[in-house]
Amino acid sequence: MHYRDAATDDKRQAKMRTLARDVLGGKLLLGNFLPEQLEALLEQWGQPRYRAQQLLQGYLAERRFDLRTITTLPGALRQRCAEAFIALPLELSSMKHATDGTVKMLVRLLDGAQVEMVRIPREMQSGRSRRTLCISTQAGCPLGCVFCATATLKLQRNLETAEIVGQFLLAEQVLGERITNVVFMGMGEPLLNYEAVTAAIRLMTWGTQPLVTPRHITLSTAGIVPAIARLAEEPISVKLAISLHATTDELRRRLMPIARRWSIAELLDAAEYYYRVTKRDITYEYILFDRLNDSEADARRLVRIARRVPSKVNVIPFHPIDFTHPSGLAAELRPASGERLKAFVEMLRRAGIPTMVRSSSGIDIAAACGQLALAELKTSR
Ligand code: SF4
Repeated sequence: MHYRDAATDDKRQAKMRTLARDVLGGKLLLGNFLPEQLEALLEQWGQPRYRAQQLLQGYLAERRFDLRTITTLPGALRQRCAEAFIALPLELSSMKHATDGTVKMLVRLLDGAQVEMVRIPREMQSGRSRRTLCISTQAGCPLGCVFCATATLKLQRNLETAEIVGQFLLAEQVLGERITNVVFMGMGEPLLNYEAVTAAIRLMTWGTQPLVTPRHITLSTAGIVPAIARLAEEPISVKLAISLHATTDELRRRLMPIARRWSIAELLDAAEYYYRVTKRDITYEYILFDRLNDSEADARRLVRIARRVPSKVNVIPFHPIDFTHPSGLAAELRPASGERLKAFVEMLRRAGIPTMVRSSSGIDIAAACGQLALAELKTSR
C-alpha cells in the first residue's frame, strides 16, 4: 500500500482535467475558487477585487445558486458570472428517510459518479439543536477496510472542492433546513484528497456568516500519518476523529490495510502532535466486533490510548454488510452482543474516558458507509 503514488496521481489528475473539459463545456466550478483566486479571476475580467467578496457572499452566505439574482453585483457582471460558472455541480439522485430520523441522500456528480451524504438525526447540545451532515470526499475509496461497503467500490476519483462544498449546499436545499455541523466521514478518506478538503474547509468557514464554524467540523481519518501532522499546521483547525477499531497492530492490519503502512504507535504520535498544536481533543472511533476487539484486554489498551492526550471514544455497534457477499475476515465479523458492548463501555467510563455509543444511524436504509451507493449500483447493473 502506497500512501501516494505520484505517477498514478498525475495520470488520475490528467484524466480529471479531460473529464472536466468534456462535462463542463468550458464552464468553471464556482466552488473550486478560494477567495483570493476569485479576486484574481475577477481582476482579469477588469473588476475590482471586492466584487469577488460580493459574489461569494451571494453564493455561500445567501445560498444564491442562480448567480443572476446576486443583486449586489452590476447587471453585466451577474450575467457574465452566470455564463462562466456552474454554482451547484451535483444533483440529488435519491433520498431515503429512516425511522430514526436519518436521511440518506445519493448524489450524482456531473460526470455520472455517485456519492452519498447522510443527515444524522437531530440532537440537542447545550440547549441548541444540532443538525449534522456527513459528507463524502472521494467517489469510492482506495483503503479497503474489510468492514466497509465503500471499499467494495474501490476509488473512482477524488472529489473537487466544489463537489464537497456543493454537498452541503444541496443538502440544505433538499432538506429545507440549515445544517449546523459537518463530519467528513462519508465515502472516501479525506486526507487522501487533502488539497480539495482543506480548500472546502476554508470556503465553508469563510466570511462573517460562514456555512459552518470550525468548531463544528469533524474530519475522520483512517490514519494517514503525515497528513495528520500537516493538518495540524493548517490555519483553520477542525476536530480530528481517528478510525481506530483495534488496539493491536496485528488486528488493525487485518481490518484496515492502511495499518500495514503506519503502526498504532506512529498514529498515536501524530494524534498527540495534532492535539499539542491545535489544543483540540481527539476522538477515537471504535467499531465493536464480537470476540475480535471487545475483550477486557482491548478495553484496557484503549484506555491507555485515550489517556495519552485528552480524548473521547465513540463505540459503534457493527452492522453486517449483508449484500456484499464478504469473504475472509469480513465474512466472520459479527456485532458484539448487547451485554459485551455494555461491559466494554462501562470499563472505558470507569477509567474516566468520555465514551459515547454511536448507533450506525439509519440501518434500515443502509446508512452505513457506502452502502446506499453500493446498493444503487448493484441494482442498476
Ligand atoms: S472505512 Fe472509510 S477509509 Fe475505510 S474503506 Fe471505508 S471509506 Fe475508506
